[in-house]
Amino acid sequence: MANNVAIRTQGLVKFYGDFKALHGVDLDVQQGEIFGFLGPNGAGKTTTIRCLLDLIHRSGGEVSVLGIDPQDDPEAVQARVGYMPGELHLDESLTAEGLLRYFNALRGKRADWSYISELAERLSLDIKRPIRNLSHGNKQKVGIVQTLMHKPELVIMDEPTQGLDPLVQQEVLRMLKEQQAEGATVFFSSHIMSEVESIAERVGIIRGGRMVEVADPRTLGARGLHRARVRFIDSVDVSKLSRLKGVEILSQDNGQEVYLELEGEIDPLIKELAKYKVSGFETERPSLEEVFLAYYEN
Ligand code: ATP
Repeated sequence: MANNVAIRTQGLVKFYGDFKALHGVDLDVQQGEIFGFLGPNGAGKTTTIRCLLDLIHRSGGEVSVLGIDPQDDPEAVQARVGYMPGELHLDESLTAEGLLRYFNALRGKRADWSYISELAERLSLDIKRPIRNLSHGNKQKVGIVQTLMHKPELVIMDEPTQGLDPLVQQEVLRMLKEQQAEGATVFFSSHIMSEVESIAERVGIIRGGRMVEVADPRTLGARGLHRARVRFIDSVDVSKLSRLKGVEILSQDNGQEVYLELEGEIDPLIKELAKYKVSGFETERPSLEEVFLAYYEN
């Protein structure tokens, strides 16, 4: 394995009984990058992440995390990874501070306590409070501090910002960027496109247990997809427009106002429109969110 690869899966398969949750997932995450793992509910994000840490045994395929097969040596992988599960089960009998001290002791007191306090403060988390009295969002913050406090070389988080208010979400994303700046690789799942877009260099989209795309979020958004609204002075034969390559008519009003989607070159459309008297022409690009939704739906 190339030593600049932090996570690699090849043909990763997972069955739960007869149900095939992963159908051969291929994934490459480079060291030092922030990789967003995006997909709708039930797509297989949590299952993939659990296989990376061997919290569940995979049914087939190859997995390498920091050069180690987690099935051969799960402890070695888990010791080098900061992992935050999607569903946290924290010991309710402890305070947040007690829990963080406990985790730090388990890791050989690698974390600097002033850094732990700084993370908690930035998240407005009162670590003196018992876990059982914390709201869902505050428990989530304990999980985030626990994951990042020892500055692991690989951060794996399953929906880290779920249930947090927007300002705290932004702070968490900043923390992930900072971990990256210090040399960490960050792999996090989400179903919120905007947060993935804001920090990830690459995103992998999983749907139905299959990777449908791995791309730079900027190139996904810049795909040659346009929408255009055209107003004609006289009614036109809309079928002439719909015959153009890549054009789909979304709606029209008596051949006078046409709303269409265009994939590919815009020039043939402009040339066709030039044959008519046009009183209005506006184009727009679909948002990245719509591009992702199209992946989810198709
Ligand atoms: P979400 O965003 O809702 O957390 P996800 O992308 O993380 O979804 P997974 O939790 O990995 O999805 O689930 C993938 C599929 O596997 C789903 O159809 C789910 O119902 C199924 N699944 C997950 N865990 C189990 C299990 N323990 N037993 C049986 N099926 C399971």
